[in-house]
Amino acid sequence: MAYSFISHLACPKCQAEYFPDEKHQLCSCGSPLLVKYNLEKMKKQIKREDLLTRSSDLWRYHELLPVQNPSNVVTLGEGMTPLVSMPFIGKDMFIPQLFMKDEGIIPTGTFKARGAAVGVSKAKELGVKELAMPTNGNAGAAWALYSARAGIQCTIVMPVDAPAITRNECIAADSKLYLVDGLISDAGKIVARVIEEKGLYDASTLKEPYRIEGKKTMGIEIAEQLGWKMPDVILYPTGGGVGLIGIYKALNELKSLGWVEGELPRLVAVQAKGCAPIVKAWEEGKASSEFWPDSETIAFGINVPKALGDFLVLEALYQTKGCAISIDDEEILEEQKKIATYEGAFICPEGASAFVAARRLRETGWIKKDDCVVALNTGAGIKYPNTVQRQVPILQPEDRIQISLEL
Ligand SMILES: *Cc1c(COP(=O)(O)O)cnc(C)c1O
Ligand SMILES: [Zn+2]
Repeated sequence: MAYSFISHLACPKCQAEYFPDEKHQLCSCGSPLLVKYNLEKMKKQIKREDLLTRSSDLWRYHELLPVQNPSNVVTLGEGMTPLVSMPFIGKDMFIPQLFMKDEGIIPTGTFKARGAAVGVSKAKELGVKELAMPTNGNAGAAWALYSARAGIQCTIVMPVDAPAITRNECIAADSKLYLVDGLISDAGKIVARVIEEKGLYDASTLKEPYRIEGKKTMGIEIAEQLGWKMPDVILYPTGGGVGLIGIYKALNELKSLGWVEGELPRLVAVQAKGCAPIVKAWEEGKASSEFWPDSETIAFGINVPKALGDFLVLEALYQTKGCAISIDDEEILEEQKKIATYEGAFICPEGASAFVAARRLRETGWIKKDDCVVALNTGAGIKYPNTVQRQVPILQPEDRIQISLEL
């Protein structure tokens, strides 16, 4: 039986179709391409019960992934992250059925590992020897490490302000790393030039069709972990929006297979107040977003002033009766601290923004008390050591701790 049921690539804008066994980047019309599967055929051959005996990583869904030959799979065991209940913080915000999908424990410490695992595996299958990409840090780190495992050369350009640890990951993987005195959009322009001059494979967000396939597995896992039921609401910290587009795509594929039934969850795109192009477009009822000038936020992974797939994100919000909301950095840091204090989970600022959004939307009544709500924590708090700062007393070896009554 086929390892993958991939059939072709299709353009969501002009409907052009492409063969999946050749290298493709954007459609000739400039739109990202989406991977299509032969779901009718798959439905006859695979049942969701067939998954029960499989490995507990994202490759358990290989029929719905683009890699055709299992020998091309490049894996560090990524996927099947826990769906953790959040009883204390849930009580605090009056959402009793609050869950966190915790991507903080995946290889490289962020869910970018999913996109990299599938993207790099497919690049290997297509015979790619060298690729290049701009990044806000986490994607570059993941692609550098997975490329290293695949024996693919990797050129990465990231802003000087990107989290320092992601730099170190790229260096450790021996990729060709450059820093730019600017934003991810500036890094993108530099990468576009080297790609044109050197003919490298362009692994920029959505300029290759396969990263999205890796990220969509978050949606499949959430459904499987809830016993093949969908939650009422999924909140997603949105930069390029790849994860949100992916989750929407995955849940639609599961519906076509008959593996889940009913209404799709209302999808929520969460952005930072200092970079909220999708929120602005959604509030204005538009089909695409505008470049957000001078964007700034501590939640670096969602600092994307203009996303190539913005129209796909907005479509997913409109189609699921979802919404978009922006959060300020101060509230993000407060929530990050609160979640560690209440639940023992040290999550990344991007993930914390999704929890603030849940809180706000519960206050307005948009989230109902009995809704089943899943917030995506897209990465580990330990990748951002500077978000927590407090003076701590330093003792001499002979000192005693004065325990005061307030403690
Ligand atoms: C990249 C990133 C995001 C945003 O992901 P998109 O799918 O591109 O919107 C959110 N959180 C973290 C930690 C990230 O690294
Ligand atoms: Zn097209």
